[in-house]
Amino acid sequence: MIVVMKTGATQKEIEHVVERLKGAGVETLVSKGKYRTVINCIGDEDQIALLPLTALPGVEKVMPVLKPFKLVSREFQPEDTIVEVGKVKIGGDNFTLIAGPCSVETEEQVIETAKRVKKAGAEVLRGGAFKPRTSPYSFQGLGEKGLKILAKAREITGLPIVTEVMDIRDIDLVAKYADILQIGARNMQNFLLLTEIGRQEKPVLLKKGFSNTIEECLMAAEYIAKGGNSEIVLCERGIRTFETYTRNTLDLSAVVIMKNLSHLPVVVDPSHAAGRMDLIEPLSMAALAVGADGIMVEVHPKPEEALCDGQQSLTPDIFDRIAEKIKVLAPHFGKKVGAS
Ligand code: PEP
Ligand code: MN
Repeated sequence: MIVVMKTGATQKEIEHVVERLKGAGVETLVSKGKYRTVINCIGDEDQIALLPLTALPGVEKVMPVLKPFKLVSREFQPEDTIVEVGKVKIGGDNFTLIAGPCSVETEEQVIETAKRVKKAGAEVLRGGAFKPRTSPYSFQGLGEKGLKILAKAREITGLPIVTEVMDIRDIDLVAKYADILQIGARNMQNFLLLTEIGRQEKPVLLKKGFSNTIEECLMAAEYIAKGGNSEIVLCERGIRTFETYTRNTLDLSAVVIMKNLSHLPVVVDPSHAAGRMDLIEPLSMAALAVGADGIMVEVHPKPEEALCDGQQSLTPDIFDRIAEKIKVLAPHFGKKVGAS
């Protein structure tokens, strides 16, 4: 059972409800969101239903949520969440193009990419400064230097930036520069990281793990929401299968299911799903067709020289073509690209 407090409910009113529940032997978990506070009740549902909670000052409604994930479920909130990053809106009828290099390598590389993807219609710039690499001998990212380059690209183009945070110890540092914090596929079930990310206010892009179920992904989002941060964008980036022609298998049905089960926006990353440049265009169209809220793709001015994931990176020219096609097709799927 969940008690939803009215917008603007006072601390005293919240504490009063918690006291009443505790008095009836019900354990509580309070989640303070940007707009409202909800009190998660853990205990005998029938007993909780008997309490006159709606009569308490500040209470908006009391509702049963049957799913294991509660705050992120459509049962809890039927309308779509729209994550706002400055003027950019992710979710609802928006189809958001997120583009940029796999890794931040040089200032020139990032700024050139940012200018080109912005011109093509991208609304968010991606780029990794802390890279989760399989081999400890591979390029690990530029760290804070990379974050500064991303911030410079934002200053020049106005594009908000999304970048990965891999470690609890780096959250404040990454949040100082980034507009959206990315949790990578490998960290989707790093529960301590999820908990800490939920306690800060920047929006989060949560990538679904390549060996995780839809429910596990939504439970990971629940960890973040429980901390009070419901500004979460889910991302399908492919799962491991026996197929070898592609790096991963893009699970398009997961997009549809997550959008049915949750009010959170869902974007698709065809770059890490396919692992090959020639599949990015068709998979991006497929993402639009199944109702995704956007795509996140890797773009590099010279893919053959990329320090990471060059084989799946688009050239700016190819990104232009894909963005054009999406802009034409989006209205047929009830979506729009950018403010237009
Ligand atoms: C990325 O988007 O930079 C990335 C590392 O992706 P994933 O976590 O999905 O592998
Ligand atoms: Mn990559």
